[in-house]
Amino acid sequence: MTPIEAANKLNIHPSTIRQRMKINNCTALDAYNMGISKRPKIKFGQKFSHLEVIDILPSINGNSIALCVCECGRLKQSLSMCLKDGSVTCCGNCGLGRGFSHSKTNSPSYISWLSMKQRCLNNNNPNWRYYGGRGIKVCDRWINSFNNFLNDMGERPKGLTLDRINPNGHYEPNNCRWASRAVQANNTRRSSQTHQ
Ligand SMILES: [Zn+2]
Repeated sequence: MTPIEAANKLNIHPSTIRQRMKINNCTALDAYNMGISKRPKIKFGQKFSHLEVIDILPSINGNSIALCVCECGRLKQSLSMCLKDGSVTCCGNCGLGRGFSHSKTNSPSYISWLSMKQRCLNNNNPNWRYYGGRGIKVCDRWINSFNNFLNDMGERPKGLTLDRINPNGHYEPNNCRWASRAVQANNTRRSSQTHQ
């Protein structure tokens, strides 16, 4: 879909699309053609779940921003990387994508990834004080990418949970394993933390 077709679908003037989204008038392709930006890594018209890319904005740090139309008709701005790693799949208002694709929400590893982030980042989480509150962090590679986490850890085997080998270390590839509760209890006998 072109920006003009999108504007027609939304029944607004094409020039108002960008104004409405409070973005500048230079697309990533314009910037690329002028030699002031790298070639955008995603393409116009490319589809990511329920979103179709209709415009791409230049970026300073390599994270371009895509303007998309959702299947429900709403516009959505998203970091390209979030489209690519599947963390954004719809506009967020229609429930079509529920934020993540079904294959991910059905993945046991996905629940572990979410729980890990909750423990470390959400200070309203009941277990936060044992994790984020103690300075335990989620590594940069995992914090915004479930795909990276899945690639490094694989799918969670039945009956096992995410364990840090060094209980005072961070959530990062070389300090994590899937372990049974018995192994974990042995490993963390000196502390009172709980794992999920
Ligand atoms: Zn939508």
